[in-house]
Formats: sequence, C-alpha cells, structure tokens
Amino acid sequence: MRPLEDVLREWEAVIGLEVHCALTTLATKMFCGCKLEFGAPPNTHTCPVCLGLPGALPVPNQAAIESIVLAGLATNCDIMKRSMFYRKGYLYPDMAKGFQITQGPVAFCMNGHLDLAMEGPGAGERVDLPQARERGAYATRIGVARIHLEEDAGKMIHVGGGEGRIAGATHSLVDFNRAGTPLIELVTRPDLRTPEEARRFMQKLRQIFLALGISSCSMEEGSLRADGNVSLRRRGSDGFGVKTELKNINSFKHLHDGLAYEICRQAEVLEAGGAIRQETRHWDPHAKRTVVMRVKETADDYRMFPDPDLAPYDLTDEFIERLRAKLPELPDQKVERLQAAFGLAAYDARQLAEDAATLAFFEDGMAIAGGDARAVAKPLANLLLNDVAAAAAGDGSFDLAAGPLTPDRAVELVTLMAEGAVSSRQGKEVLAAVLAEGKDPRAIVEERGMKQVSDAAAIEVVVDAVLAANPDQVAKYRAGKTGLIGYFVGQCMKATNGQGNPQVINQILAEKLGATE
Ligand code: ADP
Ligand code: MG
Ligand code: ZN
Repeated sequence: MRPLEDVLREWEAVIGLEVHCALTTLATKMFCGCKLEFGAPPNTHTCPVCLGLPGALPVPNQAAIESIVLAGLATNCDIMKRSMFYRKGYLYPDMAKGFQITQGPVAFCMNGHLDLAMEGPGAGERVDLPQARERGAYATRIGVARIHLEEDAGKMIHVGGGEGRIAGATHSLVDFNRAGTPLIELVTRPDLRTPEEARRFMQKLRQIFLALGISSCSMEEGSLRADGNVSLRRRGSDGFGVKTELKNINSFKHLHDGLAYEICRQAEVLEAGGAIRQETRHWDPHAKRTVVMRVKETADDYRMFPDPDLAPYDLTDEFIERLRAKLPELPDQKVERLQAAFGLAAYDARQLAEDAATLAFFEDGMAIAGGDARAVAKPLANLLLNDVAAAAAGDGSFDLAAGPLTPDRAVELVTLMAEGAVSSRQGKEVLAAVLAEGKDPRAIVEERGMKQVSDAAAIEVVVDAVLAANPDQVAKYRAGKTGLIGYFVGQCMKATNGQGNPQVINQILAEKLGATE
C-alpha cells in the first residue's frame, strides 16, 4: 500500500464520527433507580425495569437530560424543546427487553459544531490547504449533526473459550449491571478530512466532556468510544464515495491509525478498478490492518417507533437557561484566558489547557509568581510542556500533582534561569535533581556549585585564552569561515566547566573576533 501522504495527494478522505460517551458521573441508571457503578459484582444493580420484566415502567433520569443538554450547549447545538424516546428493535441476550430505548429523528441536541485548531506535525496531512503546508497550522469547523440519549446493553461473559471470546465457549453469562445505563451518542457531519482531524476532534470532545463533568471519558474502560466512518473521492470532485465503518475504537492512536490504514486500503482497491463495499470493519492494532466484521447488504431495519411508555419530552426555556448558566470554562475559553492573562502563544496555551493536572500546576505557579507572572509564564510553560513532559514520558508512574516538583520549585527554577543564574542546560540538570532528590532548585545549585558565570571580566579571560590557543581557527574565521563561532563557544564552555553564560560568551567572542588588529 502507498503511504498516506501519497494517497491524500490524489484522493480526498471524507470522515464522520459516531462517539459514544457513558454518563458515568450520574448516581442512577437511565430509566430506573438502580445505582450506576463500574466494576460492581455481576447483577447486583438490577431491577424489573432494567431487566425488562413485563409491566415495569421506565422513568427518564432528569440528571441524564441535564448532562446531554450541557453537552449540546458546549458543542453549539440547538437544544430541542420537544423530543421523543424511541424503541429500536434489538435481539441479543444482553438486553432482556428485546429493544433499546434511544431517540428518533429529533434528538435533544441538533446542528452544532466544534472548531478545531490544527497544528503540529499531523496538520501536514491536509495537503490541499496552503496554510497547512506553509505554516503547519490551520483552522477547520466540524459539524455536529446530533447528540441523542440512549441506554446501554448488559455485558456478555463467554466461558470456556480463549480470552473470553465467544469462539470455543461452552456457555455464556450475562451481567445486567450495565443494562439501562445512560449513554449519549454524538454524530458528526462528514466534515473531517484527515485521520489527524478525527483524532483532534475526539481529544477536544473528551476535554469538553471532562470539563462538563458528565463522564470519566476513559477510552480504556470504554466510557468513551468512537466509530469511524470513512470514504474516498478524487480530489476536485464533490460527491460522496461508499463508506466503511471502523467500530468501537478505544484509543486516539487507534482512531488515527485505523482511519489512515482504511484510507490507504480503499485507495488501493479503487485504483485497481475495484469497488468499496459498505461494511463494518475492525482495526487490529497488532496486525496493523482492518478486517471485515459484517457486510451491510441493505439498510438496517431496526423498526424504530416512539416508545408508548414514555411521553414526549418537553424542555422549558428556564431549564435550558439554568444549564447554560452552569457551563464551566470550556477548553477554547481557557486558551483565550491564558493568552490574555499571561501573554502565552496560542500553541502553548492550547497544550497547557489540554491536560487538567498540568494546567492546575501552571496556574498555581502563576499565583506564586504574582507580579512576575507574565515574565515567568513562557519559561514555566516550556518547562512543563517540554522538560517535565519528557520526564513523565517514562514508565507512566509519574504523577505531576504528587511529585517532588511543586509549583513553587518550578517557579524558582525558571526564575534562576531567567536571572541567568543557571543556563538552560544546567536547568535541565537541576530539574532532574529536583525530581530525583526532592530538594529546592536553589539548594541544588548551591550544593553542586552550578552557578552560571555571567561576569564579563571573568569570561573575557577565558575567551582570550581560547583565542590565543587557536590562532589557525581565528585566521580562518576572519577569512570568512564564520561557522567556526560554534567551535569557539564550545571551547569556552569547556574551559568554564559548562558554567559560562553562553550569551555573554557569544557577545565577547563577537567583539574580539570582529576587531581586527
Ligand atoms: P448510516 O446510516 O450508515 O449509519 P449515517 O448517515 O447515520 O450513516 O452517518 C453515520 C456517520 O457516517 C456520520 O458521522 C456521517 O457523518 C458519516 N458519513 C455519512 N456518509 C459518509 C460518507 N460517504 N463517507 C464518510 N462518512 C460518512
Ligand atoms: Mg447511523
Ligand atoms: Zn434497574
């Protein structure tokens, strides 16, 4: 198969996502009073309603409706003042009723959008946009067709087969704890154009849902999952091709890589004169390929009809406005505030806003820096986003909130660097020592005698000695080989045991080398 960047030069990918999010922060299930609890012993949270016993009547969970309205407001949706619950035919042992309650053509939330700020290496996947090629950054708006509320099914446990799989199992058990738990499903318009945009969309949605507090949004535990729909069309044409659907993707990387594979696979089929079949496929991250799960012969007929046990649901303006007033600060607003308050670049602000723990740390640091906050903001952001992130990338056991690097130690470290007391290279050493030994940066600098030498008179002595020891190099430099400056700086750093201030060294070198005798 050809690589993605090749394929995307000739083909345009059309991608739409269906995102399921379990409303894990609620106290009870969607239509009954059973407790919502992840990991409880099997069948300990069930009742006649979620077991589908005859005569049991569902009652909608008001808190779930508040959650979905918050999700709709945060994604710029129209909140529908009247919507209905529908029954969707579903025959499988994990749903005892034989149908799933979901919503029909009108969902609680319709016609929204999210704006994506694309930047970084993945932005280059948009080969058609000059700003993506030239500046590695662009903005794009993704339509949200709808967000509806539905109930989850129970969980099947297959016994006797390998790895809990149904193949080879002797019998199956059902755990109904999850049956009837509330889910929201967000469906995008087919507006995404690259796997990276799909990944960014998911990440942004996760940040928003986390900020709203409506879900744990754990892709590992399955409280946030996506189906990726993708088709291709020739660049320049605007019809839609036949799509395939990648089901139940449970990580951002899998979403990106699965879509990228599927784009390349479809291109190969189409270029060989073949046709894409509308089918559901599964991304196998180990084999790095997608495999067919089922082929859609005709449109599914779920026999959807309004649930006669549930009246149409009316929302009042007061209800919607009360929720609008409860909206927390959302990621885009956070980014704007960080830029305005501390003069951060948009890119840095977005990176900080992406991780709650890092952001909290940064804001604590800004409070400590007080009047110096604007001056300390950029170096502190760099420290967190580059050096600390690199340290944390290790075995995953790193916990910024619990770690020996406290906000005041971090501010102290960047202040030492800003004052020129330690060089940026020494700063990395101090950071490593803070993380390893849990001491204050100033104490480490004292202990190790690491103070950067910025004193011009002291450095001048070193520069003179280095130039005197290298007459040939000096002659070459003056003859035009100015690249040798790096060599001189290196020699001076060596002569000062790495403690010379590189800026001062550079400045004095430039003066001395520029002056011809
Ligand atoms: P289906 O009826 O097959 O479920 P929907 O119209 O409900 O399809 O759309 C499901 C998802 O697939 C949506 O996110 C939508 O944006 C996306 N989608 C629809 N048509 C295409 C297409 N031709 N290529 C890629 N994605 C598509
Ligand atoms: Mg659909
Ligand atoms: Zn119940």
